[in-house]
Amino acid sequence: MGAKAMRILLIGDDSSDGRSVREALADDQDGPFIVECAQRLDDALERLSRNGITAILLDLWLPDSQGIATFEQVWRAAPHAPILIIGSPDDQGVARQAVERGAQDYIQRDHLDTYTLPRALKRIIERRAADEVLYFEQQRAEVTLNSIGDAVLSTDVAGNVTYLNLVAERMTGWPRHEAMGRPVAEVFQIIDAATREPARNPLDRAMQFDRVVELTATCLLIRRDGTETIIEDSASPIHDRAGLVIGAVMVFKDVSETRAMAMHAVYLAQHDFLTELPNRMLLNDRLTQAIALARRRGHRLAVLFVDLDRFKHVNDSLGHVIGDELLQSVARRLVTCVRSSDTISRQGGDEFVVLLSEIKDADDAAGSAQKILAAVLEPHDVARHHLHVTATIGISIYPDDGPDAEKLIKCADTAMYHAKEGGRNNYHFFEPEMNVRAVERQWIEAGLHRALDRREFVLHYQPKIDLETGAMTGAETLIRWVHPDRGLMFPNDFVPIAEDTGLIVPIGQWVLREACRQSRAWIDEGQRPISVAVNISAVEFRDPLFLENVRTVLNDTRLDARYLELELTESSLVQHAESTTIALQALKGMGVQVGIDDFGTGYSSLSYLRQFPINVLKVDQSFIHEISADPVGNSIVRAVISMGKSLGHRVVAEGVETREQLAFLQAQRCCEGQGYYFSRPLVAEQFGRLLDTGLSGLVLQ
Ligand code: C2E
Ligand code: MG
Ligand code: MG
Repeated sequence: MGAKAMRILLIGDDSSDGRSVREALADDQDGPFIVECAQRLDDALERLSRNGITAILLDLWLPDSQGIATFEQVWRAAPHAPILIIGSPDDQGVARQAVERGAQDYIQRDHLDTYTLPRALKRIIERRAADEVLYFEQQRAEVTLNSIGDAVLSTDVAGNVTYLNLVAERMTGWPRHEAMGRPVAEVFQIIDAATREPARNPLDRAMQFDRVVELTATCLLIRRDGTETIIEDSASPIHDRAGLVIGAVMVFKDVSETRAMAMHAVYLAQHDFLTELPNRMLLNDRLTQAIALARRRGHRLAVLFVDLDRFKHVNDSLGHVIGDELLQSVARRLVTCVRSSDTISRQGGDEFVVLLSEIKDADDAAGSAQKILAAVLEPHDVARHHLHVTATIGISIYPDDGPDAEKLIKCADTAMYHAKEGGRNNYHFFEPEMNVRAVERQWIEAGLHRALDRREFVLHYQPKIDLETGAMTGAETLIRWVHPDRGLMFPNDFVPIAEDTGLIVPIGQWVLREACRQSRAWIDEGQRPISVAVNISAVEFRDPLFLENVRTVLNDTRLDARYLELELTESSLVQHAESTTIALQALKGMGVQVGIDDFGTGYSSLSYLRQFPINVLKVDQSFIHEISADPVGNSIVRAVISMGKSLGHRVVAEGVETREQLAFLQAQRCCEGQGYYFSRPLVAEQFGRLLDTGLSGLVLQ
């Protein structure tokens, strides 16, 4: 037949047993069986050392081994083969002992017949096979449960522990053998993390509702030694074949680390990476809470907007790394200036906002502001530099200046700008009039966006005069905004805003093109060519397309470059000395003249003046206006004029209004002058007529 033969090893020296067995197994109906015999234990062990035995029939009484010891040895030699003990009725005690230790069964000698023996053998072989499968399944489950990272614990229907895997043992602190059979509440103790009340066990609920139960609230597992772990768990009921709940399995895991990571992510989202101070978002939260509290309790709070003065200068000249370290140093100082209940935040760049969550009165806030100014003022040791910075602070108060976070921060910001105007290293409280200015600013900004398209700008021209001959040497173009509602507006009212918004770039392009076009038009009319000066803001000068644009405009308008002069302020030149030199060289290469405007009001550094290829120095009008009134002022003008001349520059005096001023300038041999004394700025048409007729001969008298 196709069935594989079962090889039976009969171990025993009773010859009648041998006969009975052979006869009983001869019939193939349950077989086929092949019978081998070993009369002594030695022989048996020798045979078992080789494979192939399906089952063993064992007589415990052998010539060389007796009793249970026989079983022990055979069993050790053949752990996988099922063993059926053969015995007499007297042997029952020891046979039972053998069964307890792993023998499958025992059979009495007188039952070694064709009916009983094959069935008994077959049964033990099959059972052994089934046991092997079960054992394997159990092993697999055990290994699996111990290799997953989650803890697994199961109970019977009464809620007593029936199983824990290794992770569960470790997390609860209960070894399996001790936990087995105990009520689960004893082994798996959980409390609600928020309330610290005992939390309901998910196993109970899984069984009660006969469904999977996930953990809802954040739970703390109390280990046997009292330590706590944040966990997440879920439980599922176990059913018997009939579908009845017979227990439950719970899976849980330590989420302390995940939680910590989540908390860290929240921290990162709410803090500034550079200074680790709360960021804008967290400040808004805290400020909103502080306002709510102040409203309920009827107290006041203050918002301080802190801006470092000339921080950009540090960043540009010493580099970002040092700039960053300086900001960190400032941040540390700020923290020492306030109470722990207050909040210091970094808004970005060199701006910080301080929330004083409870103040008695404005003086309190002023005190904090002074403390902050003093703390920032102390030198900062950064990368072997001894850096000095100052700050400017704007202050707003709740409820006086606004009802909410946004309004208060805005007011403090506005006040800060005003403080800057009044000189740096200074603080200023918000005042309602400031708002008017802020609104005005927005209004101008909106108008500026449209002004170019609507052709609302015009240029005025103011002559420059040779102070020796009285001849006109050139003109400065000055922009005007003919506002549809307001009429004529002067540059001081809108140029700074155009600079802040970057609109100065397209506006400046228009000015340059219009000035060159007009100048060329006068030449084409047959006028004697004069130089036209165009004012250039720092923002325009730093624009990467600036040089390209100058070249294009000169080309397009066919104006000879030597008739174009660009007026730059000292501050826009010193900002990036290196690239400035390159740009100035390029202008020189094109043949364009360069003048320094408002000379004397900025950083005035002789080394710069020498380094830069410039042609003209325009002495600021404030010096000219001082003339004659103040001998010290006079000596400064004198010094500036002779310095400019010694450097080989043309020196132009701005804002000449009186004869005394003119006389003084002439005495100092200042080359040129510009001012109301000669002419106010004129529209193009008027200026064209002036070109025709020349200034009246009285000019220099
Ligand atoms: P600035 O370049 O120093 O121009 C001289 C200013 O002094 C002009 O004011 C001019 O009208 C005024 N002024 C001339 N003579 C006298 C005088 O005798 N006494 C007094 N008190 N003032 C006199 P304006 O036109 O209001 O321009 C102010 C500033 O706006 C200019 O100062 C210049 O920096 C800027 N600006 C003017 N036009 C432009 C432009 O097209 N682009 C840029 N970026 N800035 C411009
Ligand atoms: Mg100018
Ligand atoms: Mg000027």
